[in-house]
Amino acid sequence: MTHKVLVLPGDYIGPEIVTEAEKVLAQVNEQFGLGVEVEHGLLGGAALDVHGVPMPEQTLRDARAADAILLGAVGGPKWDSVARELRPERGLLGIRSELELFGNLRPAILYPQLASASSLKPEIVAGLDILIVRELTGGIYFGEPRGIRTLENGEREGFNTYVYRESEIERIAHLAFSLARKRDKRVCSVDKSNVLEVTVLWREVLESIAPKYPDVELSHLYVDNAAMQLVMAPKQFDVIVTGNMFGDILSDAAAMLTGSIGMLPSASLDKDGRGMYEPCHGSAPDIAGQGKANPLATILSVAMMLRYTLAAPEAATAIETAVSAVLDAGLRTPDIHTQGDRLVGTVEMGEAVVTQLRSR
Ligand code: NAD
Repeated sequence: MTHKVLVLPGDYIGPEIVTEAEKVLAQVNEQFGLGVEVEHGLLGGAALDVHGVPMPEQTLRDARAADAILLGAVGGPKWDSVARELRPERGLLGIRSELELFGNLRPAILYPQLASASSLKPEIVAGLDILIVRELTGGIYFGEPRGIRTLENGEREGFNTYVYRESEIERIAHLAFSLARKRDKRVCSVDKSNVLEVTVLWREVLESIAPKYPDVELSHLYVDNAAMQLVMAPKQFDVIVTGNMFGDILSDAAAMLTGSIGMLPSASLDKDGRGMYEPCHGSAPDIAGQGKANPLATILSVAMMLRYTLAAPEAATAIETAVSAVLDAGLRTPDIHTQGDRLVGTVEMGEAVVTQLRSR
C-alpha cells in the first residue's frame, strides 16, 4: 500500500525546515517500509510569484489526491503590499476550507531538556503534555453576515456572526473524545455558555456525546477561567476541546508555556483522518536564509502525520524518541540555546535526527 504525501515548502524558512523534515520522512519510510510517495507543490508567496495566485488549481488538485500534506510556512514581507485576496495566507486558509480540515490538533509538550526555556517555573511546566483540539472551519471567523456598515447617524459599525451547527460541534467532539481515549482519557471543553447561546449549544452537544465514551471524563470551563488555569496549573489538562476563536487564543498561550515556538507541531484533519501537518510557527523572515531555523517543529509534524493519518505509530514514536535523544545530546538551534549547549544550525539538527534514527 502506498501513501501519497504532498509537500508544500512555502516561503522564507519554509523550504529550509521542510528539507530537513523530508530527510527524516525518507529515513523512516525506508526503515519501516511505509510506502510513502512524496510530491511537491507551491502554496503561498511561492505560488503567487509563479502562478499569480496563492493557491493554484494544481496545488488544490494534488492536495485532494494526497493522503497527507506537509507544509512549511507561508507569508512574509515580500508580499505585504499585494491585494488582500492574493495574500499568501489566503492560500493556507483556502486549502484548509477546501479540504474541510475542521479538526486542528495543537499539542503543547514541554521536553524536560528544555524546561528552563519556559517563562513559567520548571515545577509548573515540567512534563507538560496537553493536546488542544480546536474547531478550525466554523465559528465566528467564518460566520455570515459579517462586515462593516454605516448606520443612519453616520457612525460605522463592525459585526461578525458567531454560529455553530450541531453537526459541526458533534464532529469535533467525537474527534476530541477519540483522541483522549489514546491519552489520559480526560476532555475539558471550553466555552462561554454563561454569555453566548452558541456555546450553550456547544456544551449541550458535548454532554450528549459524552455517554458514547464512558471511559473518558468530560469537564467544562468558561474560557476566561481556562486561560487563567492554563497559565496557573497547566498540567491539570489532558485534551482541551474548543471552538475556533477560543482555540486560536488558548493554543498560542499553551504554546508559549513550552518556551519555544520552534518545537511545536500541528495537524489539521478532515472527517476521514486525512490531514495537513505543519509547524505552529510562521515563515520567520527575520532568520530566513541564515541556516538558523529550528526544524524540529516540522520534523515533529511528520511524526504526527505518521500517527494520525498514515497509521504508523511506531515510526512516529521513533521520530519523537530520536528528537528527544538529540536534545539529550545537547544539540540546540539558536532559539532554544542556553549556555553550555552545542549550538547547531538547521541542517545539522535535521541530520542529527536522521543519524539517531539510523542508529536504532
Ligand atoms: P513567526 O512565527 O514567523 O516568527 C516569530 C518569531 O519566532 C521570529 O522571531 C522568528 O524568527 C521566530 N521563529 C519562528 N519559527 C522559528 C523556528 N523554526 N526556529 C527559530 N525561530 C523561529 O511569526 P511572524 O514573524 O509573526 O510571521 C512571519 C510571517 O509568517 C508572516 O507573514 C505571517 O503571516 C506568517 N505566518 C504564517 C503561518 C503559517 O504559515 N501557518 C503562521 C504564522 C505566521
